[in-house]
Amino acid sequence: MPSNVFCNRTLNMKRVNYIGVDMDHTLVRYKSENFESLAYNIMREKLVANKKYPMFILDLKFQYNRAIRGLIIDRIRGNLLKLSRHSAIRLSYHGLSQIDYSKQNRIYKSTYIDLKDKSYDKIDTSFSIAFATLFGQLVELKDNKEKNNLPEYPTMAKDLNEVLDEAHRDGSLKSVVRKNLSTYIIKDPDVVKGIEKYLKHDKKFFIVTNSDFEYAKMLLEYAINPFLKGTKTWQNLFTFVIVSAKKPDFFFSENDFLKIDVNSGHHHQLKESLSPGVYSGGNANRFTADLGLEPDEILYIGDHIYGDIVRLKKDCAWRTALVVDELDEEVKGLKKAQPYIKKINSLMAKKIPLEIKIDNLISKRIEAGKTHHEAKIKSLIQRSSETDKKISPLIKKQNLLFNPYWGEVMRVGIEESYFAYQVERFACIYMARLSYLLDVSPRIYFRSAKRELPHERALSASHE
Ligand SMILES: [Mg+2]
Repeated sequence: MPSNVFCNRTLNMKRVNYIGVDMDHTLVRYKSENFESLAYNIMREKLVANKKYPMFILDLKFQYNRAIRGLIIDRIRGNLLKLSRHSAIRLSYHGLSQIDYSKQNRIYKSTYIDLKDKSYDKIDTSFSIAFATLFGQLVELKDNKEKNNLPEYPTMAKDLNEVLDEAHRDGSLKSVVRKNLSTYIIKDPDVVKGIEKYLKHDKKFFIVTNSDFEYAKMLLEYAINPFLKGTKTWQNLFTFVIVSAKKPDFFFSENDFLKIDVNSGHHHQLKESLSPGVYSGGNANRFTADLGLEPDEILYIGDHIYGDIVRLKKDCAWRTALVVDELDEEVKGLKKAQPYIKKINSLMAKKIPLEIKIDNLISKRIEAGKTHHEAKIKSLIQRSSETDKKISPLIKKQNLLFNPYWGEVMRVGIEESYFAYQVERFACIYMARLSYLLDVSPRIYFRSAKRELPHERALSASHE
C-alpha cells in the first residue's frame, strides 16, 4: 500500500523511542484559510491604529491564493520572489503583477539570492500568506494611486513584521481563536487514535511548543480530550509537555526548564533531573541527557521549516519530520497532471533530437564557411517550433492545476523550489499531516530512494 509519508533519509522507527511534536499546525491543526485571514485583518487594523496607515487599507480584501509557502520578499524593490533550489529567481511579482522574464533578468541579472542579506525576508514563518498578500497589495497601492500616503517599500515590510510580532505578543490573535475555536481549529480523531496505537508499542510522546501554557491547555482540551475514553485527558498521552519553548533557541540554547503545576499554573525552577510533567522553557540537550537517550532515538515533528526543522538539524542530532499542509493538494494536482506530463515528455523526446540536428548542421555550415543545408535547417526549425506550439498549451493546462499565481509549492518549472530543497535537506521524512505518520506501523523502516546524479542518469539512459 503506498504510504502518504515520504522519506528523504532512511529512518528506522524501531530505533525511535521518543516522539516529540510541535503543537500549532502539527498536533493541533488549524483551518488555515480562516486563520491567515484573521492574521491579515489584525495586521491591517494595527497598521492603521499604531503605524498611522490610511483608513482605506481596511477596504483591502484578503486573497488566500496570492501567496504560497517558501516565497521571498525583496524589501527594497517591493517584489515577491520564488526561488529554485539554487536560490536563483524563477518567478517574481511586483505588487500584484507578474514581472516578465526579461525585466526580471534586467533587475536581478542571473545572481543567486543570498538569503543572509537583510534586504530579503523569508516568508516561512506562520502567517506567511497573510504577510505576503498584504505586502503585495500595499506595494500595488503605493505604485498606483496612493504614492504619497504610504511609506517606502522597506518601511512597509518592517511595519508588517512589527505588527505581526505584536499580534502574537499582545494576545490579539489568541483571544479571537479562544472565542471561536470551531472557526479556527480542526478536531482530528485520527491523531488521538494514532498516538494511542503508538503508546501500545512503548513509544513515548512529548510536546515542544512556543505557545504559552494557558493557550496550549485550552487547545489540547478542545482538540484531544473529546476523543479519549473514561477519565483520560491529554496529560495521559504525553510524558512531557514543554510550553514557551522559544524554538528555534530550544535546540541550541542552555535555557532552564521551569516546572509547571498544572492545577495552579505556578512555575518553579527545576533543580533535579527531568521527570515526566509539564515544563516551560528548557533546551534539547538537557532533555536528551537527562533522559539518557541517544539523539537519534528522538524524532521531532513540526510544521515550521526553519523554527522546527532547519535549526534542529544544524544544532542537535534528533531525527526530523516535517508536516507540509499543502502537500495533499499538491499531490492531487500532480495526479491530475499526469496525462499532460506524459504528453509533454513525449513531445520533448521528439524535440531534443531535432535541436541536435539543427545545431550540427549549423556547426557544419560555420566550419565549412559555406551557405549550404539552408533548406534542411529551415525545415527542422519549423518542425521544432511546431512542437513548441504543442507543448506550451499543455504547460498552461498543467499549471492551472496548482496555485494560479505561483504554481506548485515544491517546484518551479522543472526545477525544485527553494522550499523543496530545504525540505529535502533538513527533514528526514515529510507528510501532509501528523495522522498520516501515526497511521503507519510504529515498526516501519522508511527507506530513501537512490538519487541519481546527472552522470549516473546519462549512463543508465545509454544502457536502456
Ligand atoms: Mg507549528
